[in-house]
Amino acid sequence: MRKIFLTLLLTASLLLTACHNAADTTQKPPPVTINISDSGFGVQKIRATTDVFLMDTLMTLTVYSDDEDAAKRALEEAVASLTHLDQTLSTAKSDSNIARINADGHGTLTRDGMVLMNTSLQYYRDTNGLFNIAIYPVVRAWGFTGDQFQVPEQSELQTLRSNIDANRIQFDANTGKIALEKGMAIDFGAIAKGYAGEQLIDIFKKHGITSALLSLGGNVQVLGQKPDGSPFRVAIQNPLNPDNNIGIVSTINQAVITSGSYQRFFEANGTRYHHIIDPRTGYPAEQGLASVSIIASDGTQADALSTSLFIMGLEAGSVYWRAHADDFEAIFIENDGTVHITEGLAGRYEPLNAQTPQLIARR
Ligand code: AMP
Ligand code: MG
Repeated sequence: MRKIFLTLLLTASLLLTACHNAADTTQKPPPVTINISDSGFGVQKIRATTDVFLMDTLMTLTVYSDDEDAAKRALEEAVASLTHLDQTLSTAKSDSNIARINADGHGTLTRDGMVLMNTSLQYYRDTNGLFNIAIYPVVRAWGFTGDQFQVPEQSELQTLRSNIDANRIQFDANTGKIALEKGMAIDFGAIAKGYAGEQLIDIFKKHGITSALLSLGGNVQVLGQKPDGSPFRVAIQNPLNPDNNIGIVSTINQAVITSGSYQRFFEANGTRYHHIIDPRTGYPAEQGLASVSIIASDGTQADALSTSLFIMGLEAGSVYWRAHADDFEAIFIENDGTVHITEGLAGRYEPLNAQTPQLIARR
């Protein structure tokens, strides 16, 4: 069922890409349909919302405001920004900045690409190579870049793994010039949505918006609090049964970003293979986790770390959290459904099942 859904999404994205290329070479943003309604919180504010399919995912942007024109302008600029990010960063669009660099082996990154490259290289070092934008050739071999999934030969993975050292990317942080060795390729897929969310929050603030909720394919980022002054309540999906939620996190001005083995996977010979690759093996990360959610004020950080801590697993992930406990909180859900939350979430995480979460203490 999940597979069919993913295939439909992929087909929709391919169709959208095809339409773009054929009909619109200037790449204007798609027309934005904005729905306006009462805020629903019993206060004098409207709720303006729009749905877009960009960056391979369904996105819902919601702003609350007493100024309808400002809300509309904010959403229009947000969609234009997302469209631009998609068109420059997508590895799947052959004319994107990143796809060209991957094809040519060199080029110059856009301003956003430069920020993402600097940040990604920093996380590569910080996570001892687990967060790795140069893993792309391996991700491609598994077919996760399209919908032709396959289990690569171990020998092929071994060969590909000789080309995934991100330290070998030649990158000039001043000019954005980049050169890749033969066989290397990069992808910001594990960090781009968190970064996009940060850009949107900045756009909203510029338009005087103080309350907003973004859902970028299930990754949530909130600005301020709900119109009634209470914190936003963000649902955490049950990774073992993704149609249901397992808990709720209350949050103000933060991103809640989840990486999970349920989000993209295929099955072959009775084994399930998912899309988050452990660079140490070239195989999907298997450290006993079904999902990791990161709650942080920096969306880019939350996105990079959800992927990284998923690969680390509960034990190493907890060690990493203790070293950075002022920056973020985390929810680890094990393959058997056990939920672990970091200390700072006590009182902010509300389970929706009978299970009391295990607390990860600072020390
Ligand atoms: P996310 O959903 O943010 O965890 O990102 C997952 C996506 O990042 C995958 O679909 C791959 O495109 C890419 N990816 C897979 N493994 C890694 C890794 N070890 N480091 C960075 N990106 C990865
Ligand atoms: Mg991520």
